[in-house]
Amino acid sequence: MSIKRILVTGGAGFLGSHLCDRLVDAGQDVICLDNFFTSQKSNVAHLLDKPNFELIRHDVTHPLWLEVDEIFNLACPAAPGHYQFNPVKTMKTSVLGAINVLGMAKRCRAKVFQASTSEIYGDPEVHPQPESYKGSVNTIGPRACYDEGKRAAETLFFDYHRMHRTKIKVVRIFNTYGPRMHPFDGRVVSNFIRQALMGEDITIFGDGQQTRSFCYVDDLIDGFLAHMNGPDDFPGPVNVGNPGEFTIKQLAELVIELTGAPSKLVYREAPADDPMQRQPDIKLAREKLGWEPKVALREGLERTIAYFKSVNFDDFRAPTPNY
Ligand code: NAD
Ligand code: UDP
Repeated sequence: MSIKRILVTGGAGFLGSHLCDRLVDAGQDVICLDNFFTSQKSNVAHLLDKPNFELIRHDVTHPLWLEVDEIFNLACPAAPGHYQFNPVKTMKTSVLGAINVLGMAKRCRAKVFQASTSEIYGDPEVHPQPESYKGSVNTIGPRACYDEGKRAAETLFFDYHRMHRTKIKVVRIFNTYGPRMHPFDGRVVSNFIRQALMGEDITIFGDGQQTRSFCYVDDLIDGFLAHMNGPDDFPGPVNVGNPGEFTIKQLAELVIELTGAPSKLVYREAPADDPMQRQPDIKLAREKLGWEPKVALREGLERTIAYFKSVNFDDFRAPTPNY
């Protein structure tokens, strides 16, 4: 086996830490880079004494100089409350981060993977969303810093691919959940589980009829690796997510059932530009990557609840007040 030097930006985050686990287990030489804005070192503490794992505290908006064979670019706050906390920084992270990893990939002739998002489809008029759908993003709304930053990053990836033949792999990730989500990241699954376990009421934004399709983290990482290790003549973008679609109210009821919590549902004002529906069309992933998710929502939630029960919420610093 030839060992590859693989950089994972945002490697201490929720998805990044699972990806680092898989790459370290496979015997690769892994460099995890993170500025710990929305994560903590504890996510990768179990990897620190491995000889094939290295941790760098660095911000991807600043240039970086490393010798690598592959790059997974995951660095970016992903939860709405945290990416809206400093929207200009969020845009810089996506755009300057992409420029910096693409420059490194060009110099090292490395293959580079971009964690794009279903948010590039905005509040979609087409349902489910195939990769060919161009999207409906409000360019001046509060989510635009993230959505437009990720759209610009996709553009940069494809321009480097066309101009410099940089080997690129782009995935569009749909809502993913699982162990190591930050308890205070403000996303719906972590919020509902934390609230249920603390015996608090569950906060539904809007009427709870908006939908999301939830993918378990292990399935998602399988999709990442299938794409990264797939044929060079398929750069993507490819949707990776679980087509099982639920209303937010159904999710809340399932969390209450699985935790046995006495929590009540309470309704809060819907955030601006909150997408009303979201479901991946995964035909392309099935066809090109031979990939589809395996873990149903109930089973994935049980595993996630077990994780949340195993940690002490006091050990976590809320990244911003918006959770
Ligand atoms: P996360 O917040 O847990 O992880 C992001 C990581 O990036 C964190 O460790 C954070 O500290 C780090 N980071 C943020 N800004 C940085 C910077 N300027 N320099 C260096 N590191 C920085 O979120 P996640 O869910 O693991 O998301 C990982 C990636 O996947 C993100 O790019 C996100 O946009 C994308 N994504 C995730 C989902 C999902 O449902 N989880 C959906 C769509 C896209
Ligand atoms: N949401 C909610 N209560 C919460 C957090 C989120 O009702 O405590 C809703 C949010 O308004 C959205 C959905 O859950 O409609 C998913 O939100 P999340 O922040 O997880 O991700 P998004 O897909 O919106 O980026």
